[in-house]
Amino acid sequence: MTWQSLYRRYRPRRFVDVRGQDHVVTALRNAVRDARVSHAYLFSGPRGTGKTTCARIVAKALNCERPVDGEPCLECDSCVAIEAGASYDLHELDAASNNGVDAVRDLITRAAMGTPGRAKVYILDEVHMLSTPASNALLKTLEEPPEHVVFVLATTDPQKVLSTIRSRTQHYEFDLIGADVMAAHVRWVAADAGLEIDGTVVDHVVRVGGGSARDTLSALDQVLAAGGIIDRAGGLDDLVAALVGRDPGAALGAVHEAVRSGRDPRVLAERLVARMRDAFLASVGVPLDHLPDADRARVAHLVDGAERPFLTRAIEVLGATLVDMRQAADARITLEAALVRLADPTADTSTSALLDRIERLERALAAGGGAPPSGDTTTPGPTAAV
Ligand SMILES: [Zn+2]
Repeated sequence: MTWQSLYRRYRPRRFVDVRGQDHVVTALRNAVRDARVSHAYLFSGPRGTGKTTCARIVAKALNCERPVDGEPCLECDSCVAIEAGASYDLHELDAASNNGVDAVRDLITRAAMGTPGRAKVYILDEVHMLSTPASNALLKTLEEPPEHVVFVLATTDPQKVLSTIRSRTQHYEFDLIGADVMAAHVRWVAADAGLEIDGTVVDHVVRVGGGSARDTLSALDQVLAAGGIIDRAGGLDDLVAALVGRDPGAALGAVHEAVRSGRDPRVLAERLVARMRDAFLASVGVPLDHLPDADRARVAHLVDGAERPFLTRAIEVLGATLVDMRQAADARITLEAALVRLADPTADTSTSALLDRIERLERALAAGGGAPPSGDTTTPGPTAAV
């Protein structure tokens, strides 16, 4: 048997197999069962959360010869043909690579023709990438859809879809999958595939996957192929500690150590900004369901040690740095310059850096038993330790 990636092998085939999107799959299955399927759906959500997978299940369920309670049987000729990618009832267009008006016109012409099954399903992936003429052509069809046609528009960015198109669809939002649900899924996949993996691997792939089933199972494939965890962003904890401790030397040391062991500065920067963002969310009371327990503990530790202005400034500075790193001849130097500015706010005269210094000053004064500062605190005295 040729090797098939876990993501493909364990792609959900029925609604009941879809993880973490209960509100969507229940509604879709009931609509199929009760013959209340809409002519146009908009599925939005982050990549790898099941949008096109659910669209394909809709196509199977609508054309299945022996559907059971809104689910496809997976055995009839229609189900088999759709799963083999050989059915005339399912058409997919990737708007990211095919965004012109000709591609949409071609699709609409075919949509207007008859069909051997009961329903023709057209999936337009990344529909926000359609050109304006293509969007307008699609809108015309959505205004008067052919009787037997169902459009499923999928997008990671629903705000960029024409509002006139959005308003003609039933909109379902797909969520990132929570860490607990994903960890259970990974354990189930491993058991079903006869793989022995320990809790460290489960935590690792759930973290790398970031709530996307596709990315999580791809990470598991990589661990299996490599024979163990290769953490390309190792050294993150040391780097975070150096920044919180306002120690530029230690921050540069952590980068040096990470790069020396073969880690990519860009990946390190991405993970760092994600950690800071998680800490900021936690500091305002947002639950971090997408993180494994070990990471949640790390974030809680960071929230204890860092003031909120520092976190917001870190997110700003590192976000801009990630953009700069894409253009930079040496991404590591760009990252190091940003880390020095973050670790040593006196090297940075931006407003957010000054706010960060004021916050630290206020805390120092409060901790020293002095009266909390009031009024104008933008001119700290010469002896203030900031
Ligand atoms: Zn069937």
